[in-house]
This record gives sequence, structure tokens and C-alpha cells, in this order.
Amino acid sequence: MTSLAQENERTDPGGVRWQAGERYSRQILFPGIGGEGQQKLATARVAVVGCGATGSALSSLLARAGVGTLCLVDRDYVEPSNLQRQSLFDEADASESLPKAIAAARKIAAFNSQIVVAPKVDDLVPSNIENLLEGVDLILDGTDNFETRYLINDYAVDRAVPWIYCAAVGSYAVTLNVLPAQTACLACIFPDSPRGMVETCETAGILNSAVNLAASIAATEALKLLVGKSSALRRTLLSFDLWTNEHAEISAAKPDPGCRACARRDFIHLAGEGRPHITLCGRNSVQIHERQRPIDFAEMERRLQPHGVVRRNDFVLKFWHDRYEMTLFRDGRAIIKGTTDTAVARSLYARYVGG
Ligand SMILES: [Zn+2]
Repeated sequence: MTSLAQENERTDPGGVRWQAGERYSRQILFPGIGGEGQQKLATARVAVVGCGATGSALSSLLARAGVGTLCLVDRDYVEPSNLQRQSLFDEADASESLPKAIAAARKIAAFNSQIVVAPKVDDLVPSNIENLLEGVDLILDGTDNFETRYLINDYAVDRAVPWIYCAAVGSYAVTLNVLPAQTACLACIFPDSPRGMVETCETAGILNSAVNLAASIAATEALKLLVGKSSALRRTLLSFDLWTNEHAEISAAKPDPGCRACARRDFIHLAGEGRPHITLCGRNSVQIHERQRPIDFAEMERRLQPHGVVRRNDFVLKFWHDRYEMTLFRDGRAIIKGTTDTAVARSLYARYVGG
């Protein structure tokens, strides 16, 4: 990690002096942060789970603010329909189907090369959560589903790591700070996935401004927490509809004494029963991650070429066959587009990739 002192030494070939004091000068002037706060940000480690819409905005804000280490976890690849709201990606990323975590890390490196960004192309599941999130000071929610949020909540409550729930759908933004043992957790407020909020951006559409609102509020709460201004943290579930201008806050100041997660410490999502298939966010696609061994893309390309169109880069191999589009990742995980039938997806996978 580059320390602020080391940064003071750097001059690039164009003669620009990269001084931390200069880069962050306007933020240091803000009394809530100051020089001491900026130093704390430089040594902070934050995980952003999901690098789609809210995840892009969150990681962009925190990277520009000088958070020293960002761990970006995302299972997906960039597509043209992402560009309306996923601010870290461009047309080249979509035409290459770059994994979002990789594309995000590259984009961040272009505007702040003085922080560490660790991209992980992976689906956050009970078996890898320890490995992916170990050692972070804060977890930020850039996901699009309650299954992963409950998993994050269980992990965060169990390990006493703060996390921030952050979501946007339609014109609606919602966010909650979870400070384990101090405030309500996600399961205190929503013991089960809330009805009416299970709509996704695929079914309800989404305004990019709702994404940025949710991410701006959550990123600011993250800064307060990282610089140690916990008295300034909001202790409510905040929701805001940008179209109707309706907004509401529900108190989250105290944990629910009957809560499954934070009171009874029954971490059912962390224990996680086998989840071999996951149907993605209404997107007419199925994810398969049964095979836990790496794929040789060159060999796979030779094998698949007689059966359809194959394209690959360093990170993904895409295969078009019939009306299906299969995207294979190096670790053997696949996203099959063109069906929501897990049996169809499984059989395509077994036939062309192998068991
Ligand atoms: Zn709770």
C-alpha cells in the first residue's frame, strides 16, 4: 500500500507531482474529515460486494475519497444494458464481456493508482465468504438480491464487522447502517425478504439517479465510520422515492431482542445448505457453480467450436449455441442465458463443459 508519505515523493513523467495533500485537499478541508481522517481512510480496508449499479457508484466514490484498500467482489460480466447506470463501465467493457470486478479495478486504477484494488471474480457464497471478506473494516452492499444480503448480514453480525445495506430499484433508494451489537441488523428489520421490495431492476426498471442517491448516502456513512465519527452515523432505515419525493425513516437504533441473527445467533445463511444453481435477477439466465475446478480455455474453445460460436479473453469464454449463450469463467462457473429452467441449463452445461 502506498502511504501518504510515500505519495509525497511521487512525480510522474509528465511532471505532475502526486501529493496526497493535493489530491485530497478539498476533502481534508471538510472539517468532518481533516488530515487525521484522511490518514485513517488511507489505512482502511473496505469490501464492496457486487459491482453493478450501486457497487460501481460506491467503489468510485470511496476510491476517489482515498480509501486505501478496496476488495471488489462480483460474479457477473458487463453487458450493454448495464451502461445506463453502472458508472464504472464503458462500451469496450461490454463488447469484451469483461468481468465487472476486473473492469471496475481497471477503471479505478485510471483515476486513482495510489490505492490498492483487489478484484475477485466470484459469487459470494457461504463456502468462500471467510476467504473473500476476511480482514475488512467495513462491508458495503452492492448486490441486487436478498439472499446475498442475508449472507452478508449473518457474517457481519457473527464477526462484529459493520456493513451498510444499500439498494435502488425504480426511483426508490433505501439504505441502513448495521453496527453489530449496537443497532438493528437487516434480519431485525426484515426477518424475511420484504414483500414489495423483491422487485428487481429487471421488472420495475431503474433510474440511475436512484442508484447514485443510495450510493451517495451509503458512501458518506462509510466515510463517517472509517474516520471514527460514529456519533454522526444515521441509525435509521432510510428510504427515498425520487419520483414521488416520498421519504421515510424507520428507527434502527436498537437490536430486536428476538432477532434470529443478532439475538439468537442462528446464522442459517452462513451455514448455507447447498446452492448448486442460482437463477439470476429475472434476467432469463441461470448460474451454475457446481464444478470446483479450473477450465483450460484453449482446450474448451477447441472442444466447443464444432457446436457453435466461441469467443474468449483472459477472463471469460463465451459460447453461443442454439438460443443459448453460455459465459464460462476460469473457475468453471457459468452463466447460461436464454433459460430460467435450471434443468435445461444443467444439461447444456453437462453436455458441453462436462460434470
Ligand atoms: Zn438482528
